[in-house]
Amino acid sequence: MNMKIRYAARLKVIILALSLLLLVAIWVSLPSLTKNKNTAQIEVKSPVHFSSYPYFSYLPNIVLITIDTLRADHLGSYGYPRSTTPELDHLARQSVQFTRIISQAPWTLPSIISTFTGFTPLVHDVLQETSKVPDSLETLPELLQKNNYFTSGVINHLYLSRKYNFQHGFDFFDDSLLGHENAVSAPAVADMTIQWLQNNEEKPFFLFTHFFDPHSNYVPPRIYKKMFFGPQEATTRGNPQDCPREKIPELLDLYDGEVRHTDKQVGRIIFFLKQHNQWRDLMLICNADHGEEFGDDGSTGHLFLRHEILNVP
Ligand SMILES: [Zn+2]
Repeated sequence: MNMKIRYAARLKVIILALSLLLLVAIWVSLPSLTKNKNTAQIEVKSPVHFSSYPYFSYLPNIVLITIDTLRADHLGSYGYPRSTTPELDHLARQSVQFTRIISQAPWTLPSIISTFTGFTPLVHDVLQETSKVPDSLETLPELLQKNNYFTSGVINHLYLSRKYNFQHGFDFFDDSLLGHENAVSAPAVADMTIQWLQNNEEKPFFLFTHFFDPHSNYVPPRIYKKMFFGPQEATTRGNPQDCPREKIPELLDLYDGEVRHTDKQVGRIIFFLKQHNQWRDLMLICNADHGEEFGDDGSTGHLFLRHEILNVP
């Protein structure tokens, strides 16, 4: 009889303990269950301080060059047979090249916010044309600021402008080229980047430069248009939206001209860094926000979750 009573008492204690554990588990998980509904609730649990990592014996200068709409398989270093990227290919031979980078979104805004926060688009929730980067979201330049970096941005894309609150975390932010995205803007972006490097005395620094040119409309300067398309006049406007299917090869030639043209401007920045003693102690990163499709899966442009669009250098 006593055994039965003792057994029942132990059973009660076990059930009570399990119930308490369940309550505690629900209480602990409640914040994470509600967290993603509003990006304002995203919190960085503890600020990262580079000094706590022993391999950061010094803080390198960091240059991040992002090329819009650059699909990985149109670079020589990723196996493309055309000579579209001699400068980036040369850089790749001296560097670490990641062979499989998957963009987190097929268009600029959510993709770059993922790069700048480490969050997937479903978490950062900057997914709409009407979205803004919330102040509560810690971005890469903010993190670097907290680690004594001087942070600068040279951009020419509306999605990366003040309108989208992209400027927060930047000590210097130049978006004066806004409105010229569809023109040939890569030389001006390279000029502004080089000018900033020439005048900057802050160290360590983080510099973000964004090239837009490979994005449609594809209107490469004549010399780069001739390289892949030829000297004749293009019969399309270089716009995937209104291009008939039989003209897609022409579209692709013009796109390759844009890529080669932008590669040349990236090369100018690399040349400057090397010539002006800024190559040592430098972390140079070149990447893209998304790729582009040329009828590979039946359509053109981007905005689709396909490997031509999501595989980036
Ligand atoms: Zn883009």
